Amino acid sequence: MRKNYDVDFNTYLKEYPNKEGYFGQYGGAFLPPELVPAFEEITEAYQTICHSAKFINELRRIRKEFQGRPTPVYHCERLSGMLGTTQIYLKREDLNHTGAHKLNHCMGEGLLAKFMGKKKIIAETGAGQHGVALATAAAYFGLECDIYMGEVDIAKQAPNVARMKVLGARVVPVSHGLKTLKEAVDAAFGAYLKEYKDTIYCIGSVVGPHPFPMMVRDFQMVVGIEAREQFLEMTGILPDTVVACVGGGSNAMGMFPAFLNDPVELYGVEPMGRGPAMGDHAASLTYGEEGILHGFNSIMLKDEKGGPAPVYSIASGLDYPSSGPEHAFLHEKGRVNYITATDEETIEAFFKLSRYEGIIPALESSHALAGAIKMAKERKHRAILVNLSGRGDKDLDYVIENYGFGEKYSQF
Ligand SMILES: *Cc1c(COP(=O)(O)O)cnc(C)c1O
Repeated sequence: MRKNYDVDFNTYLKEYPNKEGYFGQYGGAFLPPELVPAFEEITEAYQTICHSAKFINELRRIRKEFQGRPTPVYHCERLSGMLGTTQIYLKREDLNHTGAHKLNHCMGEGLLAKFMGKKKIIAETGAGQHGVALATAAAYFGLECDIYMGEVDIAKQAPNVARMKVLGARVVPVSHGLKTLKEAVDAAFGAYLKEYKDTIYCIGSVVGPHPFPMMVRDFQMVVGIEAREQFLEMTGILPDTVVACVGGGSNAMGMFPAFLNDPVELYGVEPMGRGPAMGDHAASLTYGEEGILHGFNSIMLKDEKGGPAPVYSIASGLDYPSSGPEHAFLHEKGRVNYITATDEETIEAFFKLSRYEGIIPALESSHALAGAIKMAKERKHRAILVNLSGRGDKDLDYVIENYGFGEKYSQF
């Protein structure tokens, strides 16, 4: 039943990305000339330091003792029973310290900063999830931490702003343009340009200029490696299907590589929001076209003028107008299928997992679960492993205000 791909998945991880950071035609590093040396320094450091036994052993220890890894794989017996014959399993990244997968790459980036002798880490954040994970890493490693955040987002995300400050990070308000994520990215790059000698820039997903899509993937890959082994141990076989939500795409790229060379179907779930009209969704791979944004070439959603289109999702971690270059590549090669879930389907999945399993998922992760529930209803899949990328405490106020306590959604 194995399809023929013109990529050898036996050797895939050695060959992709290439030295310039390309996955086929996607990826690369489109940078202002002044920043080229800074990114080359990170690439160089990554290639030497991160493959040293000292680094690997230290990261292993941190994952176990600080993050609480390995996170378990869990069989959703009640939910599966209600859905029919397909069995649904979760990789519980919601149980990773700070409640989501993002800490996996932030601890890797923080450790690299420490090994490189940097004093400070900087980044931008939209909804604040990346900022909180990075502030956590900075506190652990004793590094200074500047998080650039649009003023509009600061006003909306008070709890995350408070978390970052309690963790000792400096939240730098960005007050130009629309005062949201895009301007925060510009401001963080501007700051990095000035202080890169003592600083390292830490990107929050498998996006941005090379080496970040590769580096963040490599730091996240622990998720899939653990899950594959745990699933085999639990059931004696592999799942036939693996599902993850895709914003920038880091939790999905954490999961997929371990299964690329197996007879396992892979699905990324993109946010369809309120529907397919421009501005109502953030399904970049489903509706986008090739383009360069934030220093890398990928598939992005464009407006009439060719700039990044306005995007929307109920899950703030997914509303990004592009996706990591490796997703664009795996999409083009047909190795990963990209499907969508609407806000409504996502909310239904959110309440079903809460009511039937006692696990309140993040709205981002609820997209992956919504995809799995749709597939379970088709009854073509035997066992679906879902990456539950994070916990939903952060989303509760919003959900209750807009959808109540979910009586309507939790019924089968
Ligand atoms: C940020 C976030 C995502 C989306 O980011 P990816 O890079 O696409 O994984 C998904 N789930 C949770 C819980 C998040 O916080």
